[in-house]
Amino acid sequence: MLGLFDSIRDDDPLLQYLLRAVEDAPSLTALVLATWQVARVLAVHLLETVLAERARQPTAWPPCPACGASLRSKGFAPRQMTSLVGLIRWQRRVGRCPQGCAIPQVAPLDEALGVQPHPRTSGEVQALGCALAVFVPFATAARLLGWYGGGAVSSRAVWCWVQAAGHQATTHLQADLDTVATGDVLPPEPLTAEVTALPLALGADGVMVPFRPKAGAPQGKIRWREITVGVLARLRQHRTRTGQVVTRLAQRRLVAVLGDIDARTPRLWLEALRQGIQSAPQVVWLSDGGRGLWRLFEERFARQTTGVLNFYHAAQQRWQAAAAWLDGRTPQARRWFAWARHRLRHGLPDGVLADLEDALAVEGMPTTARDTVMTVYAYLARHREHINYEVYKALGLPLGSGMVESACKWLIQQRFKGVGMRWSEDGFNHLVHLRLAWVNGRFEALFGVPLSPNQ
Ligand SMILES: [Zn+2]
Repeated sequence: MLGLFDSIRDDDPLLQYLLRAVEDAPSLTALVLATWQVARVLAVHLLETVLAERARQPTAWPPCPACGASLRSKGFAPRQMTSLVGLIRWQRRVGRCPQGCAIPQVAPLDEALGVQPHPRTSGEVQALGCALAVFVPFATAARLLGWYGGGAVSSRAVWCWVQAAGHQATTHLQADLDTVATGDVLPPEPLTAEVTALPLALGADGVMVPFRPKAGAPQGKIRWREITVGVLARLRQHRTRTGQVVTRLAQRRLVAVLGDIDARTPRLWLEALRQGIQSAPQVVWLSDGGRGLWRLFEERFARQTTGVLNFYHAAQQRWQAAAAWLDGRTPQARRWFAWARHRLRHGLPDGVLADLEDALAVEGMPTTARDTVMTVYAYLARHREHINYEVYKALGLPLGSGMVESACKWLIQQRFKGVGMRWSEDGFNHLVHLRLAWVNGRFEALFGVPLSPNQ
């Protein structure tokens, strides 16, 4: 190939040195690492040879964007970039307007290669840096990248790449939101026939994240802000080896929104459209008692969706009622609670509500206990349509909102709530969009490069 190997061996002292290091490497690990260095130097030679060959081919000059005259070559100019295999350099023709228009110099070869005028690091290194930053703090991502990438990388550089890629992701998102808002059809994600036939579940919950008190100023008291995390997934029935039927999530997609109901509703609805809410055979909404989220449900989803109140959350509320009602008589309270929970679970919510009404009729109940029972009664009565657990269970619907809690843990807790972390609004949004792209299977599309060799 290109007569590469003979020429390199003779005229590159660096390679001679590296080849000797391979021969001298004592352990297998040292041998692999020394060989890796040789491979990188060969890769740089190959890249530079191909780029030099392409640069020699005739250039098709575009017209000047200002006056339309055909641009004229000003000769070859050097360009260099840090790539995954190390620093690469090439020469390419650059052109200017013959009429002297004040336009930046144009390098058609760079444009053909998809290289922007300013970056000093090539796309695959940036994509890898962003992928690492999805999981670990910026400084760690920079260090890991430096080990196997083209050399030392600053955490500031990784941070900048994340901002740029996250900004691009939010731009795509806004374009999709605009499409839906103007009534245009957004094509759903391609799904297999098997997945299309499964019920679709939606859930949402809020989680608090530490923010900077003021933009640009890390000092001062932390400001906690609520992030709404939404989960959308198809429910697949799976039979275990012991013959038990369990529900598993398929095609899980996450949404995270910093903002009020006006921001949350369209974002959840957009993802619901992508996940085929309009053709799914059945749609369920799972949530705990948070009022804002039920309002969102009523406003946007109630028409085609069955709402289910998180069973364990409802049961917890019952415990409080029992404790208040029986006021310290613990064994009795526990028995009543177990019985009420059982009745709730097996589809007798009216019986449980009737119990609470009875409790309210008891003479001489302390005011605090009465208030608690009233609160629980109002809560369950408000959600009367969302606690038909027996029906839901027969349909194979999950009764807890564990799918939302685990999503909150992975998406938010794990990366945004480390020791000493506090975020700016943009900093949070850009990184969370990269994490969403990752978990939703859209990361490589965002960078336009296949990072995995199997693709
Ligand atoms: Zn011009």
